[in-house]
Amino acid sequence: MNTNRRTTILLGLLLVLVFLPLTDVSAQGKLEGVYQPLNIAHRGASGYAPENTFAAFDKAVEMKADFFELDVQMSKDGHLVVIHDPTVDRTTDGRGRVRDLTLAALKKLDAGSWFHGSFAGERIPTLDEILDRYSGKIGLFIELKKPELYPGIEEKVAQALKSRKLDQQSDGKIIVSSFNHRSVQRYHRLQPSVPVGVILRFSPSGISDRQLRSVSEYASFINVNKRMVDSSLVDRVHRLGMKIGAGTVRKKAWAKRLKSLGVDGIVTDFPDFVSSR
Ligand code: ZN
Repeated sequence: MNTNRRTTILLGLLLVLVFLPLTDVSAQGKLEGVYQPLNIAHRGASGYAPENTFAAFDKAVEMKADFFELDVQMSKDGHLVVIHDPTVDRTTDGRGRVRDLTLAALKKLDAGSWFHGSFAGERIPTLDEILDRYSGKIGLFIELKKPELYPGIEEKVAQALKSRKLDQQSDGKIIVSSFNHRSVQRYHRLQPSVPVGVILRFSPSGISDRQLRSVSEYASFINVNKRMVDSSLVDRVHRLGMKIGAGTVRKKAWAKRLKSLGVDGIVTDFPDFVSSR
Protein backbone atom coordinates (compact mmCIF):
# COMPACT_ATOMS: atom_id res chain seq x y z
CA MET A 1 0.00 0.00 0.00
CA ASN A 2 1.51 3.38 -0.95
CA THR A 3 1.61 6.32 1.39
CA ASN A 4 -1.04 8.29 -0.53
CA ARG A 5 -3.52 5.48 -0.31
CA ARG A 6 -2.82 5.01 3.39
CA THR A 7 -3.34 8.74 4.02
CA THR A 8 -6.68 8.63 2.18
CA ILE A 9 -7.87 5.68 4.24
CA LEU A 10 -6.74 7.31 7.46
CA LEU A 11 -8.48 10.54 6.51
CA GLY A 12 -11.64 8.62 5.69
CA LEU A 13 -11.51 6.87 9.05
CA LEU A 14 -10.98 10.17 10.82
CA LEU A 15 -13.98 11.69 9.05
CA VAL A 16 -16.14 8.75 10.07
CA LEU A 17 -14.96 9.09 13.66
CA VAL A 18 -15.66 12.81 13.70
CA PHE A 19 -19.12 12.58 12.13
CA LEU A 20 -20.40 9.37 13.66
CA PRO A 21 -21.20 10.93 17.03
CA LEU A 22 -22.93 13.82 15.23
CA THR A 23 -25.25 11.58 13.24
CA ASP A 24 -25.92 9.67 16.41
CA VAL A 25 -26.96 12.82 18.24
CA SER A 26 -29.17 14.03 15.39
CA ALA A 27 -30.90 10.66 15.30
CA GLN A 28 -31.93 11.26 18.87
CA GLY A 29 -33.27 14.62 17.82
CA LYS A 30 -30.93 16.60 20.03
CA LEU A 31 -28.84 18.44 17.48
CA GLU A 32 -30.09 21.99 17.08
CA GLY A 33 -31.18 22.71 13.52
CA VAL A 34 -31.49 19.05 12.54
CA TYR A 35 -34.07 17.96 15.08
CA GLN A 36 -37.59 18.23 13.75
CA PRO A 37 -40.53 16.71 15.63
CA LEU A 38 -43.06 14.57 13.79
CA ASN A 39 -45.68 16.77 12.25
CA ILE A 40 -49.04 15.18 13.11
CA ALA A 41 -52.05 16.78 11.40
CA HIS A 42 -54.90 16.74 13.91
CA ARG A 43 -58.02 15.16 12.29
CA GLY A 44 -56.20 15.98 9.04
CA ALA A 45 -55.17 19.55 8.31
CA SER A 46 -58.31 20.58 10.15
CA GLY A 47 -57.39 24.26 10.26
CA TYR A 48 -57.83 24.36 6.49
CA ALA A 49 -60.52 21.80 5.71
CA PRO A 50 -63.34 20.01 7.57
CA GLU A 51 -61.86 17.64 10.17
CA ASN A 52 -61.80 13.88 9.48
CA THR A 53 -62.66 14.18 5.77
CA PHE A 54 -60.69 13.31 2.65
CA ALA A 55 -60.30 17.06 2.08
CA ALA A 56 -58.49 17.45 5.41
CA PHE A 57 -56.43 14.28 4.97
CA ASP A 58 -55.44 15.16 1.39
CA LYS A 59 -54.39 18.56 2.65
CA ALA A 60 -52.21 16.94 5.31
CA VAL A 61 -50.47 14.89 2.61
CA GLU A 62 -50.10 17.94 0.40
CA MET A 63 -48.60 19.90 3.31
CA LYS A 64 -46.13 17.07 3.88
CA ALA A 65 -47.20 16.24 7.41
CA ASP A 66 -45.53 13.07 8.71
CA PHE A 67 -48.79 11.67 10.10
CA PHE A 68 -52.40 12.55 10.30
CA GLU A 69 -54.55 11.72 13.27
CA LEU A 70 -58.06 10.33 12.73
CA ASP A 71 -60.88 9.32 15.06
CA VAL A 72 -62.58 5.96 14.65
CA GLN A 73 -66.05 4.98 15.88
CA MET A 74 -68.59 2.37 14.81
CA SER A 75 -71.89 2.62 12.90
CA LYS A 76 -75.07 0.85 14.02
CA ASP A 77 -74.33 -1.95 11.56
CA GLY A 78 -70.76 -2.40 12.76
CA HIS A 79 -68.72 -0.43 10.21
CA LEU A 80 -65.70 1.58 11.30
CA VAL A 81 -66.27 5.23 10.50
CA VAL A 82 -64.06 8.28 10.89
CA ILE A 83 -65.65 11.03 12.95
CA HIS A 84 -64.73 12.75 16.19
CA ASP A 85 -67.90 13.39 18.21
CA PRO A 86 -70.20 10.57 19.38
CA THR A 87 -72.99 12.43 17.53
CA VAL A 88 -73.06 13.72 13.97
CA ASP A 89 -74.61 17.04 15.02
CA ARG A 90 -71.57 19.33 14.98
CA THR A 91 -69.76 18.19 11.85
CA THR A 92 -72.58 17.15 9.48
CA ASP A 93 -76.00 18.30 8.35
CA GLY A 94 -77.60 15.38 10.21
CA ARG A 95 -78.59 14.64 13.80
CA GLY A 96 -78.16 11.71 16.10
CA ARG A 97 -75.64 9.36 17.60
CA VAL A 98 -73.07 7.68 15.35
CA ARG A 99 -73.91 4.31 16.89
CA ASP A 100 -77.62 4.72 16.10
CA LEU A 101 -77.01 5.33 12.39
CA THR A 102 -76.21 2.75 9.71
CA LEU A 103 -73.27 3.25 7.39
CA ALA A 104 -75.72 4.01 4.57
CA ALA A 105 -77.35 6.74 6.65
CA LEU A 106 -73.98 8.18 7.72
CA LYS A 107 -72.75 8.22 4.11
CA LYS A 108 -75.69 10.39 3.07
CA LEU A 109 -74.63 13.19 5.40
CA ASP A 110 -72.75 16.26 4.27
CA ALA A 111 -69.61 16.49 6.41
CA GLY A 112 -68.13 19.56 4.73
CA SER A 113 -70.65 22.41 4.54
CA TRP A 114 -70.49 23.24 8.27
CA PHE A 115 -66.85 24.23 7.73
CA HIS A 116 -67.28 26.14 4.48
CA GLY A 117 -69.62 25.98 1.50
CA SER A 118 -66.72 25.05 -0.78
CA PHE A 119 -66.50 21.68 1.00
CA ALA A 120 -70.16 20.74 0.44
CA GLY A 121 -70.52 17.05 -0.36
CA GLU A 122 -67.59 15.80 1.74
CA ARG A 123 -68.60 12.48 3.30
CA ILE A 124 -67.74 10.69 6.53
CA PRO A 125 -64.95 8.28 5.50
CA THR A 126 -64.70 4.67 6.61
CA LEU A 127 -61.48 3.34 8.14
CA ASP A 128 -61.21 0.95 5.18
CA GLU A 129 -61.25 3.87 2.76
CA ILE A 130 -58.58 5.67 4.76
CA LEU A 131 -56.28 2.65 4.91
CA ASP A 132 -56.66 2.01 1.17
CA ARG A 133 -56.10 5.59 0.18
CA TYR A 134 -53.33 6.72 2.53
CA SER A 135 -51.29 3.89 4.00
CA GLY A 136 -47.76 4.08 2.63
CA LYS A 137 -48.23 7.75 1.72
CA ILE A 138 -48.34 9.24 5.20
CA GLY A 139 -48.29 7.95 8.77
CA LEU A 140 -51.64 7.17 10.38
CA PHE A 141 -52.32 7.97 14.00
CA ILE A 142 -55.55 6.05 14.61
CA GLU A 143 -57.49 7.13 17.69
CA LEU A 144 -60.14 4.80 19.06
CA LYS A 145 -62.73 7.35 20.10
CA LYS A 146 -64.90 6.37 23.05
CA PRO A 147 -64.16 2.66 22.57
CA GLU A 148 -66.25 1.96 25.68
CA LEU A 149 -69.30 2.72 23.49
CA TYR A 150 -68.27 0.16 20.91
CA PRO A 151 -67.51 -3.31 22.29
CA GLY A 152 -65.28 -5.19 19.85
CA ILE A 153 -63.93 -2.11 18.08
CA GLU A 154 -60.34 -3.15 18.87
CA GLU A 155 -60.82 -6.49 17.06
CA LYS A 156 -62.34 -4.73 14.05
CA VAL A 157 -59.50 -2.23 13.71
CA ALA A 158 -56.92 -5.00 14.17
CA GLN A 159 -58.67 -7.00 11.45
CA ALA A 160 -58.75 -4.02 9.08
CA LEU A 161 -54.98 -3.66 9.44
CA LYS A 162 -54.30 -7.38 9.24
CA SER A 163 -56.32 -7.93 6.06
CA ARG A 164 -54.02 -5.40 4.37
CA LYS A 165 -50.88 -6.75 6.04
CA LEU A 166 -50.47 -3.35 7.67
CA ASP A 167 -49.90 -5.10 10.98
CA GLN A 168 -46.57 -6.35 9.60
CA GLN A 169 -45.03 -2.96 8.90
CA SER A 170 -41.89 -2.16 10.78
CA ASP A 171 -41.67 1.55 9.98
CA GLY A 172 -43.92 2.67 12.85
CA LYS A 173 -46.12 4.59 10.42
CA ILE A 174 -49.32 3.24 11.93
CA ILE A 175 -50.00 3.89 15.61
CA VAL A 176 -53.22 2.99 17.44
CA SER A 177 -54.10 5.15 20.43
CA SER A 178 -56.87 6.16 22.79
CA PHE A 179 -57.73 8.10 25.92
CA ASN A 180 -59.10 4.77 27.11
CA HIS A 181 -56.00 2.96 28.36
CA ARG A 182 -57.77 -0.36 28.86
CA SER A 183 -58.73 -0.29 25.22
CA VAL A 184 -55.12 0.43 24.23
CA GLN A 185 -53.93 -2.49 26.37
CA ARG A 186 -56.52 -4.72 24.78
CA TYR A 187 -55.37 -3.64 21.33
CA HIS A 188 -51.75 -4.30 22.23
CA ARG A 189 -52.59 -7.83 23.35
CA LEU A 190 -54.51 -8.48 20.13
CA GLN A 191 -51.87 -7.14 17.79
CA PRO A 192 -48.51 -6.60 19.51
CA SER A 193 -46.77 -5.86 16.19
CA VAL A 194 -48.54 -2.51 15.88
CA PRO A 195 -47.21 0.25 18.14
CA VAL A 196 -49.77 1.77 20.50
CA GLY A 197 -50.00 5.11 22.21
CA VAL A 198 -51.98 6.50 25.09
CA ILE A 199 -53.49 9.94 25.30
CA LEU A 200 -53.42 11.64 28.68
CA ARG A 201 -55.86 14.33 29.73
CA PHE A 202 -54.67 17.56 31.24
CA SER A 203 -54.16 17.19 34.95
CA PRO A 204 -52.97 20.08 37.11
CA SER A 205 -51.01 17.69 39.31
CA GLY A 206 -48.91 16.47 36.39
CA ILE A 207 -48.04 12.90 35.44
CA SER A 208 -46.54 10.62 38.06
CA ASP A 209 -43.60 8.27 37.51
CA ARG A 210 -45.85 5.41 38.51
CA GLN A 211 -48.34 6.32 35.79
CA LEU A 212 -45.58 6.63 33.19
CA ARG A 213 -44.02 3.32 34.18
CA SER A 214 -47.30 1.46 33.93
CA VAL A 215 -48.03 2.97 30.52
CA SER A 216 -44.51 2.13 29.29
CA GLU A 217 -45.24 -1.57 29.78
CA TYR A 218 -47.25 -1.56 26.57
CA ALA A 219 -47.21 1.86 24.91
CA SER A 220 -44.47 3.32 22.76
CA PHE A 221 -46.02 6.77 22.47
CA ILE A 222 -47.75 9.08 24.88
CA ASN A 223 -49.69 12.10 23.78
CA VAL A 224 -50.27 14.87 26.26
CA ASN A 225 -51.92 18.23 26.47
CA LYS A 226 -49.37 20.85 25.43
CA ARG A 227 -49.69 22.66 28.75
CA MET A 228 -48.35 19.56 30.53
CA VAL A 229 -45.01 19.57 28.73
CA ASP A 230 -41.74 20.64 30.29
CA SER A 231 -38.25 19.33 29.61
CA SER A 232 -38.32 17.12 32.69
CA LEU A 233 -41.46 15.33 31.44
CA VAL A 234 -39.82 14.86 28.03
CA ASP A 235 -36.76 13.34 29.76
CA ARG A 236 -38.82 11.07 31.99
CA VAL A 237 -40.78 9.75 29.01
CA HIS A 238 -37.59 9.20 27.01
CA ARG A 239 -35.89 7.39 29.87
CA LEU A 240 -38.73 4.87 29.80
CA GLY A 241 -38.12 4.32 26.09
CA MET A 242 -41.27 6.06 24.89
CA LYS A 243 -41.86 8.98 22.59
CA ILE A 244 -43.90 12.01 23.58
CA GLY A 245 -46.34 13.94 21.44
CA ALA A 246 -48.16 17.11 22.44
CA GLY A 247 -51.08 19.13 21.17
CA THR A 248 -53.25 20.56 20.03
CA VAL A 249 -51.32 23.39 18.40
CA ARG A 250 -53.32 26.20 16.84
CA LYS A 251 -50.76 28.97 17.29
CA LYS A 252 -47.24 29.24 15.91
CA ALA A 253 -45.82 30.23 19.27
CA TRP A 254 -46.90 26.91 20.75
CA ALA A 255 -45.20 24.95 17.96
CA LYS A 256 -42.02 26.87 18.67
CA ARG A 257 -42.24 26.29 22.41
CA LEU A 258 -42.89 22.55 22.09
CA LYS A 259 -39.97 22.22 19.68
CA SER A 260 -37.69 23.97 22.14
CA LEU A 261 -38.76 21.43 24.77
CA GLY A 262 -37.75 18.55 22.48
CA VAL A 263 -41.04 16.69 22.04
CA ASP A 264 -41.05 13.91 19.43
CA GLY A 265 -44.35 14.87 17.82
CA ILE A 266 -46.63 17.88 17.59
CA VAL A 267 -50.33 17.41 16.97
CA THR A 268 -51.62 20.42 15.09
CA ASP A 269 -54.57 21.75 13.11
CA PHE A 270 -52.02 23.70 11.04
CA PRO A 271 -49.18 21.49 9.75
CA ASP A 272 -47.30 24.51 8.37
CA PHE A 273 -46.80 25.82 11.93
CA VAL A 274 -44.70 22.76 12.73
CA SER A 275 -42.72 22.46 9.51
CA SER A 276 -41.64 26.09 9.51
CA ARG A 277 -38.43 26.61 11.49
ZN1 ZN B 1 -58.60 12.49 17.99
